[in-house]
Order: sequence, then C-alpha cells, then structure tokens
Amino acid sequence: MFAVEQELAQLEEELSSQYGLARLKPMLALAWHLRQRDPVRARALSLDAAPLLALLPEPERRLEQARCQLIDGEAAWLAGQLDAARALADTAWAEFHRQDDSIGSADARWLRAWIEVDRGNAAASDAELAGAAHDVWRAGDRLRADVIDAAAALFAVFRNLHSANERWGKRFDPAEKGLHPAAAGWINDYLGTAAFQASDFGRAIGLLMNTFEAALATGQVRRAINVATNIGNAFTSLNAHHAALEWMQRGLDLARPTGWPMSIGLALMQTAETLRQLGQREAALELLHEALATLAPMSGSRAYAIALEYEGDLALDGGDYAAALASFARLEARGEALHQADFQSGARRGQAHALSHMNRPHDALDKAAAALALAREHGDSYNQIAALKVLAEIHARHRLPGPIPLEAPSPALHYLRQAMAVAATIDGYTVPGDLYDAVAREYASVGDYPQAYEIALRAGAARDKTHSQEATNRAVAMQVQYQTERAKTEGEHHRQLAAAEAKRAEVLQQTSATLEHLSAIGQEITTHLDAAAVFRALDRHVHGLLDATHFSIFLIDPDGSSLRCAFGVEAGKALPPTRYSLTDEHANSARCVRERREIVLDLNAGDDMPNLIPGTLPTLSLLFAPLLIGDRVLGVMTVQSLQANAYRERERLIFRTLCAYGAIALDNAGAYLQVAATLKALSATQAQLLEKNLELEQAYKALEEVSLTDQLTGLRNRRFFLQHVDADVVMSLRGYDDPLRNGAVERENAPGKDLVFFMVDLDHFKQVNDLHGHAAGDAVLVQMQERLREVFRESDYLIRWGGEEFLVLARATHRDDAKVVAERIRQAVANRDFVLPDGTAVRKTCSIGFACFPFVPEEPRLLSWSEVVELADQGLYLVKRSGRNAWAGIYSTPDTRHEGVFARLIHHLDQALTDGEARLVTNIDEVQVGAGAKTRRLVLSSDKVTPR
Ligand code: GH3
Ligand code: MG
Ligand code: MG
Repeated sequence: MFAVEQELAQLEEELSSQYGLARLKPMLALAWHLRQRDPVRARALSLDAAPLLALLPEPERRLEQARCQLIDGEAAWLAGQLDAARALADTAWAEFHRQDDSIGSADARWLRAWIEVDRGNAAASDAELAGAAHDVWRAGDRLRADVIDAAAALFAVFRNLHSANERWGKRFDPAEKGLHPAAAGWINDYLGTAAFQASDFGRAIGLLMNTFEAALATGQVRRAINVATNIGNAFTSLNAHHAALEWMQRGLDLARPTGWPMSIGLALMQTAETLRQLGQREAALELLHEALATLAPMSGSRAYAIALEYEGDLALDGGDYAAALASFARLEARGEALHQADFQSGARRGQAHALSHMNRPHDALDKAAAALALAREHGDSYNQIAALKVLAEIHARHRLPGPIPLEAPSPALHYLRQAMAVAATIDGYTVPGDLYDAVAREYASVGDYPQAYEIALRAGAARDKTHSQEATNRAVAMQVQYQTERAKTEGEHHRQLAAAEAKRAEVLQQTSATLEHLSAIGQEITTHLDAAAVFRALDRHVHGLLDATHFSIFLIDPDGSSLRCAFGVEAGKALPPTRYSLTDEHANSARCVRERREIVLDLNAGDDMPNLIPGTLPTLSLLFAPLLIGDRVLGVMTVQSLQANAYRERERLIFRTLCAYGAIALDNAGAYLQVAATLKALSATQAQLLEKNLELEQAYKALEEVSLTDQLTGLRNRRFFLQHVDADVVMSLRGYDDPLRNGAVERENAPGKDLVFFMVDLDHFKQVNDLHGHAAGDAVLVQMQERLREVFRESDYLIRWGGEEFLVLARATHRDDAKVVAERIRQAVANRDFVLPDGTAVRKTCSIGFACFPFVPEEPRLLSWSEVVELADQGLYLVKRSGRNAWAGIYSTPDTRHEGVFARLIHHLDQALTDGEARLVTNIDEVQVGAGAKTRRLVLSSDKVTPR
C-alpha cells in the first residue's frame, strides 16, 4: 500500500538489473509507489510497462492493468477530477472483484473512499472503508487493516468525538513495536485529530507531527500537506500564530509544485485564517477567495466547509454582516450534510453574531444558545469559548433577560467569565486580547474600574504575545512571497500542465485502441524463435501501423564493434547488406546505439542529405530506436518515410512498442539458438561419452578376462575358481536338500548333483625344463591344456592351480563316474607324445587325486569344498608316493564317523582306510600311505579298477 524510500531504492535497483519481462514487476511496483511522490514518472512507467503487459497471460494482464488504472485514478483524484477518478476506480475495482483479488479491491475502495470524502459523501466514504476493511481482513494484510481502520476512526471523530473514541479507542496501540510507518502515521492522525476536536491542541500538534513525518516517509504527499495545515490550524487555535505560519508555509511549499487543488486550497485558506487573526484582513480575503475558487470542484468537502467558516469570520471582522450570515448559513447546511459537529456549532455561532448586529437579538440568542449546547455536547472547548463570547456580546448590545441564576454583575460578564473558565482548561492556550478586552469593557460598564484596568493590562500582554512583530512580519512576508511567486510560476505551470494534459489525453485516446492491437502483435512476434521469422513479423506489422517506405533492422555483431543490417526493405525491395562501425560519426543507427535513445529526423524536401545511403530513397522522416533489453542493446530498428513529419508522439509510441517486442523476441531467438547449440554440443559429447563408455566396458571386460585367465595356457586361474565355486556348492547342496531329487530314480533321469574335484599333476615335469629348457616346459603345459579340454565338458572348470598342477571341477556329475574320468585323463596324457618347440617328442605321464562334494552324502555340509580339495590333493600325494601315472579317489563309507573325520583323513588316512571309515577308489595295486619310515603298503582289491 505504501513503501518507504529504502524499498523504492530496491525497486530501482531491481529495475536496472532485470531484462525483458522480468522488468515488469519492479516497473509497476515503482509506478504504484511513485503515484503521489512523482505522478509524472509513475505515469511514464506505466506507459513503458504497456508493451510488456501485453505479454502476460490474460487474467494476470487484466489485474496489472487494473493496478495501472488505480494509479491513473489516483492522479485524477489528486487533480480534482473526481468523476474521472471514480470511473477509473470503479473499472479497476470491477476487475479485482471479478478475479477475487482482495488486496486490489481494498486499494480501489480506499481510493473511492477518498474521492467520496472530497465529494462530501460521508456515508459513501464510510461504506467504502468498511468494504475495504472486509477485503483486507480476508487477505490478512496487517498494514492495510491498520491504515483503513485508522482512517475510519478519524472520520468518526469529525461526526462525534465520544462515540468515535468509544468505538475505536482501544483498537490501536501507537507505541506498538514493528508497526509500519504508514500504519503508525495513520494511527497518530486519528489520535491527533481526536485531541484537536477535544481542543487539546498541544497534544494534537505532537501527534500530528508524527503523522506528518510518516506521511512524507511513505510517499503520502497529499496527507502530509493536509496534516501540515492541520498543525498550523492547531497553533492558530492556541493563538500561537508564528508557529502556525511556519507550518502553513511548509504545507504550501509541498502543495505548490503538485498543482493539486485540494492541497493548494487547504494551505491557502489556513494561511488566510492566520492572517485574519493577525489583523491582515485584506491579504486574508485575497487568499481566501483564491482558496475557495481552487476548492470549488470539491465544494462538498470538509475543506470547503472550513473555508466557508473562515469567509464568514472575515465578513464579521469587516462588518459585512449580511455576507457573514450568508456564509454561515451555507456552512450550517454543509455541517448538517456532513454530520460534523464542529461546523454545526460554528455555523450557529457565526449566524448569532451576524444576527445580533442585524438587530435580530432573539434569533441571535437562540442560535448562540444552540451553538453553545452543541459544543458542550461534543466537549469542544474551542467552540464553547466562541459561543460564550457571542452570547456575551449579544447581551452587551441588547437589553435582554439574563441567564438564571446569574453568576456575575451582568449577563455579559456571566458568559465572559464562563469563557475564561473554559479557556483555562485548554493546555497551552493563550487567552486572546479581544476576549480580555471584552471582559475589561464589561467590568467598566458595571463600574468596576480597577478590575477593568487590571484586565486591560492583560489584554495588552496577550496581544504582545500573540501578535508579535515577528509573526506579523512573517505573515506579510509570506503573503508578498506567495503573490510574486504565483505571478511568476502560475502561468508557466498552468501552461505546462494544460499542454501535458492535452497531449496525454490525445495520445491516450488514439492509442487505447492501438494498444489492444499492439498487445496482439506482441503476443505474435514473441512466439517466434528464429530471428528471420521475427524480422518478417516486424516488417508486416510496421507497415500495418506506420507510414514506412523504409524499414530495417541492424544488429550488433558478436564482437560488439559494428552494426550489421540483418533485415532491410525499402519500397518493397530488399536492401543490400550494409555494415557500420559503432563509432561511425555519420550513421544515425550507430549514434542511436551509442546514445541508447530514440532519434527522430525531420528533413525538408530541399535539404541536402549527407547521410543518405547511396541507392536508397531520400526519405524526409526518419525514426531510429534502440533494441533494448534492460541495459543491453541488441541493435537498432529504423523506419523512414517520404512524407515530412511522419513520426509524431503517437507513431513514436507505437514504434517504441514494436521495438520492445522486437528486442524481446530477438533476445529469445538468440537464447534459443544458444540453447540449441548447447544441446547439440551436449549430445555430441554424450555420444562420445557413450563410445568411451563402451570402450571402457570392453577394456574392463578384457581386463577381467585377463585377470581370471592363465596367460600361458588360457585356462581359468584360481581367482576364477574362487569366484564361482560357491555358487556350484549351493547348487549341489540344493540338489541334496530337495527330497524329490533323492532316491533311486535319480540315477536314470536327473543330471548328477555331485561335484568332483580332480587334482592333476604332471610327473617329473622338472626334467622337461632341465633337459629341454623352460620354453619346452611351457609347450608341454599348453598341450596339457588341450588334453584336459578333450576329456572334460565345456561346463567343467579347468583351472591351472599352479606350476604344472591342474584342478578340474567336474560339475553336475555322479560320484561313481569319477574313476572313469580319472582314467581318461591319465590316458590322454600318457598315451601320446608331447611335441616340443624344437620338434622333439617327449612322453609324459600325470598323477590324479580326486574327491567328491558332498564328501558324506548323508550329511552334505559335513566337509567344505576346500576340505574336499585337500582330500583330492591327499589322493594325488598318495598316487605320487605309489609310483605315479595313476589315479586315486577318497570316498566316505556308511561307517564314516562324522565327528573329526577330516583331521583323521588328512593325518591318519591309512588308519581310516583300515578302519573302513574311508574307501579308496584307485587303479593302483599297492598303495603306499604314511610318510617316511612309517610308510606302509596297503593292498586294496575291492575297488581296483582295471585300466581299459
Ligand atoms: P613330481 O613328479 O614329483 O611332480 O616332480 P616334478 O618335477 O613335476 O615336481 P616339482 O614340484 O619338483 O617341479 C615342478 C617344476 O615345474 C618346477 C618348476 O620349475 C616347473 N614349473 C612351474 N611352473 C612352470 C612354468 O610355467 N613353465 C615351465 N617351463 N616350468 C614351470
Ligand atoms: Mg609334477
Ligand atoms: Mg607339482
């Protein structure tokens, strides 16, 4: 609703740092908050916002437009154009209401309330404020709620101080921490005005000074002027005229540059009243007449009523009682219409005064009594004193029955003493000289000369105090200053105002239809995402809206040193490509970019044209405008016409708008190109990345392959075996755990569920190396691999376990088949020559040990696979000891004792075999077991397998 200077500075900063549509928000916010601080700039900002506004989606756009209408409406209100203001506020309100924008609705109603105040429609104003209060309550806006309620309280004070205080007294706490200055200002305004109406002028002045500061700090210029004059008025009421004049001056200084009739009228009439009180009747009359003329459009307002009261008092001072009676009669009517008690009392008091002088003492007495009663009823000491003074004067002039009981030597003295008593209750009040004069006169007339003399002395002192030379001088100086300044500035000011207003009205009228059209164009232009389409759209619309024989668009080159004609058409023909340096002295386009402002050239038919581009037409009107996005210049657009003076205010506005659209669209197109290029680069990078990933993956696979493979033989290595063996163990165990797969049927249908580990070692391999060299040994190892592959299935694991030792895991096998496989290995090695690199044939044999997993089928988990591998190794060892070129497998038996079986088999295999705890399956006739001296010969006939 109101902003402090710091917030404005932030908005300015935001505006200067944003581009394109992002400028709209700070632009409109600034326009709104400058509406009283600087109405001309506010208007300019909202005009600048028009092309951007057109880019908003419909509902949002309409809301922002309503906000602009409020700004215009407020300007009209300040200018005293109340009907126009009301129409704008109504239109804006309707939109806010339609879109259920409570804040907007409240602001529109706030403005309508003030328009109605100036029209003098107190009831309508109250209704608007009540509606606004309801709106902000819905929106939960604390600042607005405080401001609106405080204003409602203030208006209530003018009607009836007591009921106002009853209704609103507890609503506000002006000392509350964290109150927005605008809210604090309005609360002080209410409290100050209440103090004023209670004739507590000292307190009123203090509170109103707070209001004045707050109003200025929050851009409420009109309120500041109003309050300055109220402060002046309060000083006047205390008969402190010097201070009063100081504040009148402050108000006038603020009001004069605004040209707002209400503000100027208020300041003028309050000054006039102070001048009257200082006895400067002539000057007062002149100012007052001017004030009344200025306020004429607001003749229903409270301000106008105050002026009527001053006019009446001035007529009384001048002895023109008929005129005074007329003024006060009008005031009475206004007071009734406004329901404002101070006027109702003052109007009767003034009429009583005039009627007394017009020899209508009884009418006078009635009016004066009514005035006194009203002032008493409202606790209005100031008007009580005024009424009592008039009552005294009536009794002094006419022989009339006095009041009962009479508390003084005469009726006049009775009332004058009462007046003095009331005056004593007003803090800081200086009893004016003329009241003392009246009292002294009355004492003299009843023969009390010492009292009369005493009081006359006080009158002199009071006059010295209130009518100080300083104050009188100041009053005269102010009046002279005002008149000379007015003579000097008024004519000029009014001329400027009238001219600006006329121009604005004209431009507005012509453009309102065009703006709608432009907004549609804006929507269209900015949808294009490639520059060429933007150029074509601009070209089409330029010709639709302006007289343009020539239209071209220049864009700044990426290096920022020159301007290149990106699009140019003259008389329907494409222009040849041109380029200018940005420093070119003669090129208008370059100058337009350098100075970042519009350039209009109006030439005459006879002028020589040094800048005429060869091959182009001699155009008489040329308009250049920069393509601006915030502070960035993209280039220049120009239209040129063969007509003279083709580009006036309206055309320039249109062109400016087209430039704004063009800039936004070209900027969008640029951004789009950039994004597209970035995307392209990105996808190329992505493709590369993908390729790299594939390579990496392959490399990794190769590496893994390498790491799992023995380099010499191509067989798997230990690493591979360790990675896979667990899974096979699990498979095997599952086979044993599954009851369906157990039993007699298994052998026929299902694949084996045993794992057989064969440990194969070449016999006396060292000799190959020793006799034929290491390479020969290698060759044998490679050929060994081939022979193992011949014997085993693809799915079996052939592992080079180390040196010339191989581990083979035969998977999904039956344990009873192991001896057959072992014999095949033996034969595959022993029956054929190995061929060495030098062609030598050598014959080698191998030894084979094997064992099955699970070792004990009845209890598959009794031994681990690695223990089974060790048993196979034990078998191999046994073969080596028994003469080599043979095989031996260790099996469990039904007599195998599970407890500690592995240790017994490793360390006491012979004993276990003897005990029948283990069974040897071998082709060896005489098996050697045990080590060294303990070597024993075992004869095992039962499982002997005859070589096939
Ligand atoms: P045994 O019948 O008792 O197994 O006798 P052996 O000579 O085969 O056994 P020993 O363990 O005494 O010797 C193995 C030799 O194998 C020793 C080592 O030099 C050789 N050797 C191990 N790896 C390689 C290899 O990759 N290439 C070659 N050429 N020789 C190797
Ligand atoms: Mg060996
Ligand atoms: Mg070995």
